[in-house]
Amino acid sequence: MNSVVVHYKELALKGKNRPWFVQILVRNLRRALAGLGVSTVRSVMGRIEIEFDRDLDWDAIRERIGYVVGIANFSRAGRSTLEFEALAAAILHDLGDLEVPSFRVSARRADKRFPLTSPQIEREVGGLIKVAKGWHVDLDRAALTIHLEMLPTHSFYFCGKEPGAGGLPSGTGGKVACLLSGGIDSPVAAFRMIRRGCTVLLIHFHSYPILSRASQEKVREVAAVLARYQQQSRLVLVPFGELQQQVLLSVRPELRVVIYRRLMLRIAERIAVRWRAKALVTGEVVGQVASQTIENLTTIADVSTLEILRPLVGMDKDEISDQAARLGTLEISNIPDQDCCTLFTPRHPATRARRDHVVHAESGLPIEAMVERAVAAAVVEEFEYPVLKYPAGVQPTSA
Ligand code: ATP
Ligand code: MG
Repeated sequence: MNSVVVHYKELALKGKNRPWFVQILVRNLRRALAGLGVSTVRSVMGRIEIEFDRDLDWDAIRERIGYVVGIANFSRAGRSTLEFEALAAAILHDLGDLEVPSFRVSARRADKRFPLTSPQIEREVGGLIKVAKGWHVDLDRAALTIHLEMLPTHSFYFCGKEPGAGGLPSGTGGKVACLLSGGIDSPVAAFRMIRRGCTVLLIHFHSYPILSRASQEKVREVAAVLARYQQQSRLVLVPFGELQQQVLLSVRPELRVVIYRRLMLRIAERIAVRWRAKALVTGEVVGQVASQTIENLTTIADVSTLEILRPLVGMDKDEISDQAARLGTLEISNIPDQDCCTLFTPRHPATRARRDHVVHAESGLPIEAMVERAVAAAVVEEFEYPVLKYPAGVQPTSA
């Protein structure tokens, strides 16, 4: 079985843009499978077929395809003709000496001009398998379902489906910039935008050398995890410690968090515009912490002319943590570090920082110069997946 059949769902709804979405998905699959012996990836009537020119390394392929967003499910499949005897023989050959108590055949015709209906195909092929194996047919609770897909020139057969990452193909949703902290929420927020097809630029504010490098190490790991889904992550590391010290000197404690966030947004907007990102993304959730009341969210967002997207805004912490665990970022986020904000944050930040108080406090700061300095000192790092070439001396670790 040297083929894979890939199904998309949401894409099917995209009307006239559908060929464009599918083309991008095909391109992403080609990139994702680089180095694994793929001979063709092409779209055929509502699905994508992938052929391999050697015995496929199914575990590696399954892992790589599992990260490609825009896929509903996929299956390792055998390819045969449209002739039932040959098709049944190929299936029987691949089933080998497998024994099951019951089975059924489920057929789909990509081309409705096929002379027989799906139930007729199921009966014909199922009949041949039943005779050869002596298995009982059970349409409701079969132990084994053999799927057939009839295409205009050939057929595919497979048992079982692997769940795909869902969403829309990476690269179809435009570019956005996510403020990525060392916490649990923002990696999930970035992921949710990636799954909607967006290319997500990652921006992290750190307080090195006042604090350790730990937060940077964490976001690098997160950037690598997210690169599996968007194939390439660009991470911008922005030094923020000195700016915080400046705020500390002139702003009273309860207003500081809101002012840090407003500074972050201003800097992020500048960087986003430079990289042509069209919106900002944060991991903010209403009510989660003092800085995230509706009033504070509004006062913080005030400084940005770009749309601010908050994909987690209505989620519970448990839901976010579950998603972070599935994504593989929870462990990274749980590594202790001194968040740049906790160090400089008072114990009782204002839950409803008044806008006029905030603006007044900022009037004592050289905001524009601070923003410019941070933008100029930002460092960019690139992450790719799959990693095909490693720098000398670096050992590849399993994704
Ligand atoms: P997270 O788990 O994402 O850190 P949080 O619950 O700790 O979220 P806050 O610390 O209030 O919430 O941060 C709110 C949002 O502000 C974060 O989700 C993130 O988008 C952004 N943010 C906070 N700190 C940083 C940072 N150091 N660098 C980049 N963005 C940050
Ligand atoms: Mg945080």
